Amino acid sequence: MKNLFLYFGIILLIGACAKAPYQLAKHKYPKKVDTKTRPISYQKKQLFKIGEVSATNQFPAARLNGFTQINDSTFQAKISPENTPINGSAWYAFQIWSEVNRTIYLQLHYTEHKHRYHPKISEDGEAWTVLDSSLVALLPDSIDAVMKLDLSPKPLWVAAQEIQDHRRVGEWVNQWKGNPLVTIGTAGNSVQGRSMYYMNLSKGDFTNKPTVVVISRQHPPEVTGYFAMQAFIEKIIQEGGDNGFLDKYRLMVYPLMNPDGVDLGHFRHNTGGIDMNRDWSKYHQPEVRQVAKHIVDECREGNNEVLLGLDFHSTYYDVYYTYDDSVQPKLPGFTKEWLQRIKTALKVDDINEQPSGLGTPVSKGWFYKQFGAESITYEIGDGTPREFIKLKGEVSATAMMDILLERKD
Ligand SMILES: [Zn+2]
Repeated sequence: MKNLFLYFGIILLIGACAKAPYQLAKHKYPKKVDTKTRPISYQKKQLFKIGEVSATNQFPAARLNGFTQINDSTFQAKISPENTPINGSAWYAFQIWSEVNRTIYLQLHYTEHKHRYHPKISEDGEAWTVLDSSLVALLPDSIDAVMKLDLSPKPLWVAAQEIQDHRRVGEWVNQWKGNPLVTIGTAGNSVQGRSMYYMNLSKGDFTNKPTVVVISRQHPPEVTGYFAMQAFIEKIIQEGGDNGFLDKYRLMVYPLMNPDGVDLGHFRHNTGGIDMNRDWSKYHQPEVRQVAKHIVDECREGNNEVLLGLDFHSTYYDVYYTYDDSVQPKLPGFTKEWLQRIKTALKVDDINEQPSGLGTPVSKGWFYKQFGAESITYEIGDGTPREFIKLKGEVSATAMMDILLERKD
């Protein structure tokens, strides 16, 4: 009898292991990070008015913590993060105008971290231009920057990067309503109740198809990585229905992982005050937990094997964070071939790959830990020309589809 229990016990254990990728598990990484919720400061939403000059942070993704006048011609915008310690990605976004046309100097005064993002300006919040570099300067012996602005009664948008808030991402997602290749859904809600957008790409039934998962915007200011993700997905929707890719594969897309952080104009964190891309271990943050669970549950129901996870980010320059030989995921040889083809298509000398082993609990580690999947962190530079980003996203999609279609299994 005792042996019989042992026998069934072993059978159950084997069963549980076989199912392991399809139950959300907690994972250990070489470097632990505490991601339990920490308090953040909420920026006061307000209109600042100094004589004829006004500025406001009363729109999603804005960040302006104070507005003062220094002298006749110079005003100061105070920029502070949601909490500290925090990564040096000092986001700002506001509108500014004057009742009479005039030129001012505007100092970006940072209480934490130095000036990083070259200012973008817009008249309508949709079409953006890079402020001419002759009009921006770093202040000597300071972390601040100063810019020269021509103001009029019409509000001028000034921001660290083009504004891509929750509403605009939703518009991008919803443009494919009715497209037979795309199903639009949600992985749940953020802490403040914003929808965690989800797109499923497949031609016909996705059951049993090997799967690629794409995520983006864990870090609010990383708009350039988001642009690459958009071009990547758009290319797959344009061509993946005809070239056979979406017949054979399923693609799951989570384009805005941190909607609260984006709409609150955060430097880095969610409302839990945490860098979400360190939480792929115990899932303390609801946004990470819901998306991780959604991926696992969906793939269990569809009997989908997750082969590849791509996470789009931005940093100072374009770079691919890949695995070194200490990690042996699925799709051996894929990344080397993929980057080679992207490099050839872009006609660049160096694609800038930085391989490493497992480290902190980032999404790249999670795709491997949870599914044994290949995974790459896809980073675009803050100042990479937007047309090049689009091209890079497109050729990356083409190269991935081609390699996966050539794959024999
Ligand atoms: Zn990032």
